[in-house]
Amino acid sequence: MSFTIAIVGRPNVGKSTLFNRLVGKRVALVDDQPGVTRDRREGLARLGDLDFTVVDTAGLEEAPGESLAGRMRAQTEAAMADADGILFMVDARAGLTPADRAFAAAVRKAGKPVVLVANKSEGRAASAGVYEAFGLGLGEPVGISAEHGEGLSDLYDALREAL
Ligand code: GDP
Ligand code: MG
Repeated sequence: MSFTIAIVGRPNVGKSTLFNRLVGKRVALVDDQPGVTRDRREGLARLGDLDFTVVDTAGLEEAPGESLAGRMRAQTEAAMADADGILFMVDARAGLTPADRAFAAAVRKAGKPVVLVANKSEGRAASAGVYEAFGLGLGEPVGISAEHGEGLSDLYDALREAL
């Protein structure tokens, strides 16, 4: 099975941390093109016996010259358009923000298989955030800690189920 997963979500939820954990040193390509794809990073991910291409997106922080909503849409939609599935990440500690809800709407609109991930789920402080993520209507959130490497077997199961 060969497929591409785009990690999308607002800045600071932990997308790049998960990307780095999944890819390790096997970053295949740093895409330096101008415009919406300039911050896209692709790598070969391994998770259990799954090998797939994973795409990290920068979110909003590095795309000048456009409205906030426009940048958000462009980044997210470009990455999602080329992907077979979407890993939509929220921050279980921060709680949902308007930006999360805007991303969720774009993710839903893309109409592709989605795995909802509530990152930063290590420890008890995060359980309310995982529960809140249910309310996005994108299925059952998978609680993970990208930084501590927790929940990755649940992520594996969710990816297998979604694709
Ligand atoms: P991105 O903007 O979505 O790519 O987020 P980053 O991967 O750059 O991470 C943003 C911040 O969240 C950094 O300070 C990370 O160290 C932190 N972070 C990422 N994953 C976790 C996690 O599982 N738990 C906690 N507590 N912090 C995390
Ligand atoms: Mg990042």
